[in-house]
Amino acid sequence: MRREEVYIGGEWVQAHGEGEIEVINPNTEEIIGSVPVGNSEDIDIAVSAARTAFESWSISPIEDRIKILNDLSAALKELTEELAQTITAEVGTPIGYSRMAMVGTPRVVSRSYAKMLEGFEWEHEIRNSLIVKEPIGVCAFITPWNFPLHQIIGKVAPAIAAGCTMVLKPSKEAPLNAFLLADILHDIGLPPGVFNLVSGHGSEVGEFLSSHPDVDMVSFTGSTSAGVRVSQAAAPTVKRVTLELGGKSANVILDDADVIRAAKSAIGACFQNSGQTCSALTRLIIPKSHKDEILEIISSRVNGYNPGNPLDETTRCGPMVSKKQQQSVLSYIQSGIEEGAQLIAGGEGMPEGCNSGFFVRPTAFSNVTPDMKIWREEIFGPVLVIATYENEDDALTLANDSIYGLSGGVWGSNERAIEFARKMRTGQVSINGGPFNISAPFGGYKQSGNGRELGMDGLEEFLEIKAIQRPVE
Ligand code: NAD
Repeated sequence: MRREEVYIGGEWVQAHGEGEIEVINPNTEEIIGSVPVGNSEDIDIAVSAARTAFESWSISPIEDRIKILNDLSAALKELTEELAQTITAEVGTPIGYSRMAMVGTPRVVSRSYAKMLEGFEWEHEIRNSLIVKEPIGVCAFITPWNFPLHQIIGKVAPAIAAGCTMVLKPSKEAPLNAFLLADILHDIGLPPGVFNLVSGHGSEVGEFLSSHPDVDMVSFTGSTSAGVRVSQAAAPTVKRVTLELGGKSANVILDDADVIRAAKSAIGACFQNSGQTCSALTRLIIPKSHKDEILEIISSRVNGYNPGNPLDETTRCGPMVSKKQQQSVLSYIQSGIEEGAQLIAGGEGMPEGCNSGFFVRPTAFSNVTPDMKIWREEIFGPVLVIATYENEDDALTLANDSIYGLSGGVWGSNERAIEFARKMRTGQVSINGGPFNISAPFGGYKQSGNGRELGMDGLEEFLEIKAIQRPVE
């Protein structure tokens, strides 16, 4: 899929940057497409188009926004296979998971914002004041590759609902789905300039977009280091910045848990999307009293978690998104071995039967201690690290021992697990495998970010609040 133009003001137009960005299939290592390199000139034009469109879109009838969001959801449903195949080709995600999570979730998220608008209260009164909620303005969206369409729709859908206009810069690794989304938004009749798409390099167009004086808000999802750069670039113009960043989330098994269920589920919770998930539960914290039992389950199941061709319907673990990501994950596995953690499954090198593609072996380490790099840093691959605790206080200290705070899990009797969850410094906690909820706020404590996406909180991020003080009679 060769895309030669960027989408600005409702039209496909020539980008001003030099060259193209090649998209590589991480399973076959072949070039499967390319997108243009946009530059600051394209961003200026796109922001200006978004500013012009804001005049009318910000006061558009709510029914028009509901229709767009429902039509978007219907189009995502109709094009599920094409989008899922594209994302599997770009990211390497197993195809079944692509259909369900990569396309299915954006479809329901779009619909959820249409539904939310039906009863949304734009105004309320406090004594003599009329409190009015208004769209914040022109938004800049910078997104990563790992759940590419989900992360885009998590911003685009509430922004459309709020009456904002936007410029999207998708990731270099997985930009093709964003181009398909632009086609969809065009076809369903989103007014020109409401959504604009400029592909390019993060350090160039991403930073320029973040610093742009006519952008009112930046919503960024990606690594913590790039999030810091975005915040710095945005600071001089005091725009709103929301950040969805990295994680190193803890999964705690209390000693009264159903340990067999908890141990089995711990693998999927860490390895979903081949471990390339910001909210993956990558640090497993287990009671000493059940250590042997849990490690036996983990090691046999991780060893059976065979990576392979993501187009094979039975594959559960695909390749890493890029050679760079593969090398990075392999270096963490090497570091775990060197630092003295006990390898209980997987390890260095390519998985058996994989001669090409950016694969790594699904891996688990036990006897991991808080001083080790594999405990502290986000690996972003199928690597589970396990630490053992003596008592519940130790378990909590271990769980909160991270610069991140995005997600988490607790297994145990319900009440005790919820009490434990209350003490965790993190944005989401799953109790006994409680599933992801697209209407619940998603976002981080600490260095996992600022702000929330999804649900009502995700909509509120795109609103300004005005108090109109009326004379008192
Ligand atoms: P990344 O930070 O390298 O890139 C993310 C986006 O930022 C890309 O579009 C990139 O081009 C752009 N970018 C890079 N440098 C920039 C800069 N200096 N200024 C502006 N933009 C810049 O991240 P990635 O490798 O694409 O994604 C993986 C990371 O994203 C992981 O750390 C993961 O935890 C995080 N993530 C977080 C969430 C969340 O919701 N919290 C979700 C998914 C991924």
